[in-house]
Amino acid sequence: MPYDEIILGQGLAGTTLAWSLLRLGRRILVVDRAVEGTSSRIAAGLMTPITGQRLVQCWRWDLFWKTATEFYESVEQQTGAHFFDRRRMVRLLSNEAEQGYFNLRRKSDFADLVAAPEPPLNPESFDAPLGGFEMLQGGRLQVATFLDVSRQQFTAHGEFIAADLVLGRDIEVTTNGVRLPSLGVEACRLIFCQGYAPDNPWFSHVRFNPAKGEILTLRIPGLAESRIVHRGVWLMPLGDNLFRAGATYEWKNLNSEPTDQGRDEICRRLQEFLRLPVDVVDHSAAVRPIVHHQYPAIGLHAQLPQLGIFNGLGSKGSLQAPWIADHFARCLVGGCELDPAVDLHHYDRLLIMGSGGSKFNFRG
Ligand SMILES: Cc1cc2nc3c(=O)[nH]c(=O)nc-3n(C[C@H](O)[C@H](O)[C@H](O)COP(=O)(O)OP(=O)(O)OC[C@H]3O[C@@H](n4cnc5c(N)ncnc54)[C@H](O)[C@@H]3O)c2cc1C
Repeated sequence: MPYDEIILGQGLAGTTLAWSLLRLGRRILVVDRAVEGTSSRIAAGLMTPITGQRLVQCWRWDLFWKTATEFYESVEQQTGAHFFDRRRMVRLLSNEAEQGYFNLRRKSDFADLVAAPEPPLNPESFDAPLGGFEMLQGGRLQVATFLDVSRQQFTAHGEFIAADLVLGRDIEVTTNGVRLPSLGVEACRLIFCQGYAPDNPWFSHVRFNPAKGEILTLRIPGLAESRIVHRGVWLMPLGDNLFRAGATYEWKNLNSEPTDQGRDEICRRLQEFLRLPVDVVDHSAAVRPIVHHQYPAIGLHAQLPQLGIFNGLGSKGSLQAPWIADHFARCLVGGCELDPAVDLHHYDRLLIMGSGGSKFNFRG
C-alpha cells in the first residue's frame, strides 16, 4: 500500500513535519542520507526572544514559542527522552545605539519579556560597562538528540529509510503520486525537506540566500555562569567547564569546512566581553538554509501537487519549525489555505509583480 507522504530529509523541517503528519493519522516514510555535520545537527538550538543589533522581538515570538514548547515537551513525553530546556539568557549591550533601542522598546515592545539580570554577571568573568538585561523566556533544543530520538522512533515503526537519493534519477512522478524505484516505495506525495539544496529540479525557482555558520566548543576553567550570554556572539554553558559559542555568518564559501578565520572571529568577539581565556576543543560548520525572502517557505508544486517543499528555516529552525510543520500538515490533510506569510506561492506571485524580494512587508 502506498504511503500518504514521503518526507525527503530528516533535519528540523522533515522531523517536525513527520511528527505533525503522524499526529494527524498519516502513513509516512522519512528518507535521509543519515550523515553527520548537517545544519540541524551542528546547530546550537537556541530559541531567543530578542535578537539583533536593533533588539527586535522575534517574528511571531508568542505563537512560535508556545507551539515549540508544547511540541518538544510532548515528543519528550512520548519518547521518554530529554532534549528541550527552558534557559535563562542575558543580553549585554555593546554600544550606545543598542542602549537607545533598549530604552525605546523595553516598556512598549517587550515589557513582559525582560528584567534586570539577577544575579548580575560576575564582573571578574564578564566585562559589561553598558549593562544588559535578562530575557524571561527562551530555551534550547538539543537538536541532534531530538533528531536521533525521532529517527529511532520512526525506524521502530517502519517509517524511516537511510538512503541518499539522486533527485532526477531516484524520484519518479506518476499520475497520482510519486515512486522511488530504488527503494521500492510509492506515496501520494513527496515533500522535500532538504535544507540548503539549490539543485532540486522541481523547485529550482526557490531562491536561496544561504549563510555558512561556524560554531565552537570551548573549555573555560573557572567560569561559573549557568545562563546563556549574548553580545554579538553567544556563549552557552554545557556543564563541566564546557561551553558552546557562535556563530559566524558567511555568504561566500558555502561548505561545511571549519576555518581558522571563523574560529578567530568567534574568539575575538568573545574576548570583547569575556575576561577569561578559552581553549577550543571542537569546531564545526554548516550552511543555514535561508531563502531569499528570509522567511520559511512551504507549499506544493504549482503543476505537480504530488510534490511539496518545506525549507528556509534559516537561523531560527528550532523555534519556527514546530508551528510551520503543524500548519503545513493540517493544510496538506485538510486542504486549508496556507498562511500567506509562509506560502511559497504567495512569495512567487509578489516576485512576478516585480516588488523585489527583500523589501516585502506582507508578514502577518
Ligand atoms: C552554526 C549554526 C548554528 C545554528 N544555530 C541555531 C540556533 O541556535 N537556533 C536555531 O533555531 N537554529 C540554528 N541554526 C539553524 C538551523 O540549524 C536551521 O534552521 C535548520 O537546521 C534547518 O533545518 P532543515 O531541516 O531545513 O535542513 P537540514 O538540517 O540541512 O536537513 C536537511 C536534511 O536532508 C537531508 N538530505 C538532503 N538531500 C538529501 C537527499 N538527496 N537524499 C537524502 N537525504 C537528503 C540532509 O542530509 C539533512 O539531514 C544554526 C545553523 C548553523 C549552521
